[in-house]
Amino acid sequence: MKKTVAAVLLAMTMTVTFAGCGSDGKDKTAESGDAAGNAADAAADTEKSAQDNSEGEGPLSDGVLNVGTNAEFPPFEYVGDDGEPDGFDMALIKAIGEKIGVEVTVENMEFDSLVASIGSKIDVAIAGMTITDERKNMVDFSDEYYEAVQYVIVPADSEIASAADLEGKNIGVQLGTTGDFIVEDIKDATAAQYNKAVDAVNDLRNGRVDAVIIDKNPAKVFGEQFKDEVKLYDGESPEFGFEKEYYAIALPKGDEELAKSVNDALAELKEDGTFDELVSQYIEN
Ligand code: GLN
Repeated sequence: MKKTVAAVLLAMTMTVTFAGCGSDGKDKTAESGDAAGNAADAAADTEKSAQDNSEGEGPLSDGVLNVGTNAEFPPFEYVGDDGEPDGFDMALIKAIGEKIGVEVTVENMEFDSLVASIGSKIDVAIAGMTITDERKNMVDFSDEYYEAVQYVIVPADSEIASAADLEGKNIGVQLGTTGDFIVEDIKDATAAQYNKAVDAVNDLRNGRVDAVIIDKNPAKVFGEQFKDEVKLYDGESPEFGFEKEYYAIALPKGDEELAKSVNDALAELKEDGTFDELVSQYIEN
């Protein structure tokens, strides 16, 4: 835990840009903003990559799996002491790459850009990403690998204690996440959207937002980090009634070969105990 907190603190103080070599061999640099991309282009590219794969030239043909993430979501992904993305998802995707026999390169980008970038800037995305019907219109998902739910973080002295109490409130969320989508459905509530979860939490501590809605495990990390200032509510409790969510790796639409490689590797890692080891190392420590 100590190590995780240290890494989180470090992640908070750093903004990093990663350069990697993409599946098309071009040098790629992920920067905030440029990641926004063009959804139409990305969709066209996704189609192309699915086609290429049927000709045996899929994303894996160059021996490199170029993975997109948003390293602002501890313990699943954060910037490690060495300035590189670390966390459960990073360890998992590297283990999957090893099983498949490809090198894994990681691009750190905005969460909201990941789905549209699959098939162009990146091959796949792993980012504590919940399977949703809306995302399924643009990408396929691997088998699920983790169960989650949204949590509600409020100031320690807040009177908010139920979904009804969130009505009309200013609620911090990470842009384009399932927490953001939940706020859309809360009567008269305003979503204050942030690219980094920690910025939402800091604005909660500064009194700029009334609550933050974010996934369970990052909420617990922030709850621990600021335990004198905030309290957490489990969104699955009857007072909130949020639905369970399931994380999976986002894949190019229609690329069955890649999906099979990833799912087979995931199944093997569950079978041989590696998956559970990573859970205890990164999530349950
Ligand atoms: N699980 C949430 C989602 O998929 C949040 C993910 C994240 O912020 N990395 O929208």
